[in-house]
Amino acid sequence: MREFGYHRAYDVAGALALLGADPDARFLGGGTNLVDLMKTGVERPASLVDVRELPLDGIEPTADGGLRIGATVTNSDLAAHPEVRRRYPALTQAVLAGASGQLRNMATVGGNLLQRTRCAYFTDVTQACNKRVPGSGCPAIEGEHHNHAVLGASEHCVAVHPSDMGVALTAFDATVTYETPDGPGRSPLTDFYLPVADTPHQETVLPPGALITGVTLPPAPVAARSRYRKVRERASYAFAIGSVAAALDVRDGVVQDVRLALGAVASRPWRARTAERALAGAPAGAETFAAAADAELAAARPLPHNGYKVTLMRNLIVAVLTELAEEAAR
Ligand SMILES: Cc1cc2nc3c(=O)[nH]c(=O)nc-3n(C[C@H](O)[C@H](O)[C@H](O)COP(=O)(O)OP(=O)(O)OC[C@H]3O[C@@H](n4cnc5c(N)ncnc54)[C@H](O)[C@@H]3O)c2cc1C
Ligand code: SF4
Repeated sequence: MREFGYHRAYDVAGALALLGADPDARFLGGGTNLVDLMKTGVERPASLVDVRELPLDGIEPTADGGLRIGATVTNSDLAAHPEVRRRYPALTQAVLAGASGQLRNMATVGGNLLQRTRCAYFTDVTQACNKRVPGSGCPAIEGEHHNHAVLGASEHCVAVHPSDMGVALTAFDATVTYETPDGPGRSPLTDFYLPVADTPHQETVLPPGALITGVTLPPAPVAARSRYRKVRERASYAFAIGSVAAALDVRDGVVQDVRLALGAVASRPWRARTAERALAGAPAGAETFAAAADAELAAARPLPHNGYKVTLMRNLIVAVLTELAEEAAR
C-alpha cells in the first residue's frame, strides 16, 4: 500500500475545500470498501478526506412525512432507527442482511451507495477490466460470471452493484442529495447510477468532487408492509446472488399499491417498473405475481453461467409478494 495523506473535515465546506485541493483525493466514510481497494492497488488516492465528523449523522422526519437520512449515518444506526423499522421495514432488513455487525458499525450510507462492484476481475489489478482500465476489455463475459448481471448490462461490462441498502432505497423512491463547490444537487436513486453502455467506468451522475450529504425518503404508507429477501451462497457475511425489496397494499383481494426492486441482477439496484405496472389493480395471487415477474424478466439477457438467476428472481418475486399478500389478508 503506498503512502497517502489523511485529513479530517468538520463541515461540508471544509470537506469540499480539502478534496478540491488535491485532484487525487477521495472522501473516506467507514473505509470498509475504499481501504480494501487501496490495499490491492485498485484505488491509489494521494490523500483521504475523512467525512465521519461531518454533521451528517442524523435521521430526521421531513415536513411531508418522509425521512431524511444523513450520509454519515452508519449502517447499524440506520437499521436500528425506530422510524426506519416502523415505516420502511424492508430497509432495516436489507441493511441487516449485509456484511457483518462490525462492518455495519463502520460503514456509512454515502459509502454504501458508492461501494464498488465485487467482480473478481475488477478487484485484481493483474486482469483486464473496462471498469478499472477503460478499453482494456471485459474478461468476465467469457470467464467467471456466475454472479453477474442479467438485466441492463452491455458488451463492455456485466458487473452487478453489490449494495443491499440501495435496493430497498430504490423501491421507496429515495433521492440522493449532494454538495459540490458550485452548489447543491439531487438525483432520484433510480437515475443516480448511469447505464453501463460503453462507459462502465462512469458509474453515477455525481459531478467530480461531489460530497453525498444524505438520502431522502418520501412518505410511502405502502412501505410499512414491506420485506427484503436476499439469497446468497452462504447464510451470512456474503453478497447477494439475488434479492428483492417489495411493498404491497392489497384491499378486497386487489393490489392497490406496490413497490418492487431487485438486487444483484444489474449494475444498479433495479426498479421493477414493468412488474409494478402489471400488478397495479390486478387480483393479488400467485398467477398475477408470476405473470408480473415474467414481464419484468422478459428483458433478461443471461450469460452461459448465470441463467439460474432468471429462475431464482422469478421465484423470489413470487414468494415475497405472496407472503406480503397473505399478511395483508390476515
Ligand atoms: C466482507 C464484506 C462484506 C460485505 N457485505 C456486504 C453486503 O452483503 N451487502 C452490502 O450492501 N454491502 C456489503 N459490504 C459492503 C459494505 O457495506 C460497504 O463496504 C460499505 O457500505 C461502504 O461504506 P463505507 O462508509 O465504509 O465506504 P468507504 O469504503 O469509506 O467508501 C466507499 C466509496 O464511497 C466514497 N464515499 C464515502 N462517503 C462518501 C460521501 N459522503 N460522499 C461522496 N463519496 C463518499 C469513497 O470515496 C469511496 O469511493 C461488505 C463489505 C465487506 C468488507
Ligand atoms: S464485468 Fe465489468 S467489472 Fe467485471 S471485468 Fe467486466 S468490465 Fe470489469
